[in-house]
Amino acid sequence: MNTPIYDRVALIGLGLIASSMGHAMKAAGLARHIAGHAKTEATRAAALEVGFCDSMHATAAGAAAEADLVVLCVPVGAMGEIAAAIGPVLAAGATVTDVGSVKRAVIATVAPHVPTGVHFVPGHPLAGTEHSGPRSGFATLFRNRWCILTPPAGTDRTAVARLRALWAAMGSNVEEMDAEHHDLVLAVTSHTPHLIAYTMVGVADDLERVTDSEVIKFSAAGFRDFTRIAASDPTMWRDVFLSNRDATLEILGRFTEELFALQRAIRMGDGPLLHAYFTRTRAIRRGIIEAGQDTSAPDFGRVKAGT
Ligand code: NAP
Repeated sequence: MNTPIYDRVALIGLGLIASSMGHAMKAAGLARHIAGHAKTEATRAAALEVGFCDSMHATAAGAAAEADLVVLCVPVGAMGEIAAAIGPVLAAGATVTDVGSVKRAVIATVAPHVPTGVHFVPGHPLAGTEHSGPRSGFATLFRNRWCILTPPAGTDRTAVARLRALWAAMGSNVEEMDAEHHDLVLAVTSHTPHLIAYTMVGVADDLERVTDSEVIKFSAAGFRDFTRIAASDPTMWRDVFLSNRDATLEILGRFTEELFALQRAIRMGDGPLLHAYFTRTRAIRRGIIEAGQDTSAPDFGRVKAGT
């Protein structure tokens, strides 16, 4: 067991990320007390039953009062309203952080509500699954995954170091970057790929010449992975695209240009172009495996459901 890093951590929003943080903090003894709040009574009751919170609160302010760390774990579109609700009760010297997948928009809506003397250190764990809710979390979700912190210039370094220590103790590799750069990096590595997966699954659903049962029966790894990604939480992803609009549109523009180039190569029978393109992309995949971000196993090393 570690010495607790925080006395009282408030988790606002009790879904996949919050429940995983709760389990990870409990497993390693990183917080003396974990207070929780979610919008609905059903989620609050489920979280209490699962057992990753020590106290449950009907309001966000009730959970955040007296906390030395408040973690906003709600969809990006709800961050501003939560910040407005907790701002008046935040204790001097406390840290507010969030786990939102977009950083510039979260900083714009949350920062104005954080009072002087309270530290705001925005964050984003690059870890997740397609599942959501208080029963979906697990203590090892963040292990060997990156957590990006985007503290604005002038943020108290002691507060940043303490939050870095928490993420490291939950198993993450922590890196700091500028919020704008974060949003561009994530538009390339996560947001646009999700949009493509949503689109491809939508196309398969629309294709009347291929029956639903054929899509399911013959879904090889590529399409199967698309369906897994496209099963991600609709509210979360709606908010991601609406709040990371500029970076996503920039990458999507580049994507459609490349797609048209490949479409033309297929139409023209330009084998060398296709071969050279796929050789380049194969090298990127090798780089990801070498960096330890995935495995070369045919099923990507994923544990089968139920095991
Ligand atoms: P989730 O499982 O869908 O849970 C969201 C939680 O937020 C629920 O407990 C929900 O409560 C609560 N909530 C929503 N609006 C609220 C409000 N106005 N007041 C209080 N609680 C509210 O979500 P998640 O996957 O953990 O995602 C949470 C955040 O983490 C998002 O910002 C997302 O961008 C980010 N993130 C997600 C992933 C991922 O892969 N899932 C990865 C990294 C970061 P009710 O159930 O009561 O409605």
